[in-house]
Amino acid sequence: MTQAFIGLGSNLGDSRRAVVDATRRIDSLPFTCVRRSSSHYLTPPWGLREQPPFINSVVEIDTFLSVGKLLTALLDIEREAGRVRGNVRWGPRALDLDILLYGDRVVSSAALQVPHPHLAQRAFVLAPLAEIAADLIVPGCGRVAELLASVDASSCRRLDPLPVPQ
Ligand code: ATP
Ligand code: CA
Ligand code: CA
Repeated sequence: MTQAFIGLGSNLGDSRRAVVDATRRIDSLPFTCVRRSSSHYLTPPWGLREQPPFINSVVEIDTFLSVGKLLTALLDIEREAGRVRGNVRWGPRALDLDILLYGDRVVSSAALQVPHPHLAQRAFVLAPLAEIAADLIVPGCGRVAELLASVDASSCRRLDPLPVPQ
């Protein structure tokens, strides 16, 4: 079994709903369960500024899926949530699911890089990750709490939980 962390993001449609639904879908994957999930954060777009703000969160999972099978399953969940891959890099999307960490595995192939290559520079990933795993060591980068302290996270706003439906 492997402990892994997945970054969730959305800035099209009902983004908070998309992140909640995706968390449920991840928990329903075979041989996989969600152990912890962070709050939702309202964050400014990264890479391409002229687009709506994002909702981001991070979940911790335990999984028996290989890292390759996990990526395929996450890409399927993105597609089912209406993600359309255009040619705009870092453009708006209904759902983005990135494998941030997969145990202490380091993968560097064309289709998959783990730990996620921009993890250490992204406040929108580090803020939710630190909420659930501040002491985690990112292979090659260091402790999550220290990585968060080294970026400007002032514009990432932690949101109150959604009301529980009656
Ligand atoms: P970024 O990876 O910089 O956050 P992005 O999420 O917008 O950018 P996508 O268009 O969602 O990029 O993904 C393009 C491809 O990245 C995916 O099809 C997948 O093969 C590859 N990829 C490489 N490493 C990872 C990873 N750790 N998690 C998810 N996808 C990855
Ligand atoms: Ca991404
Ligand atoms: Ca992605």
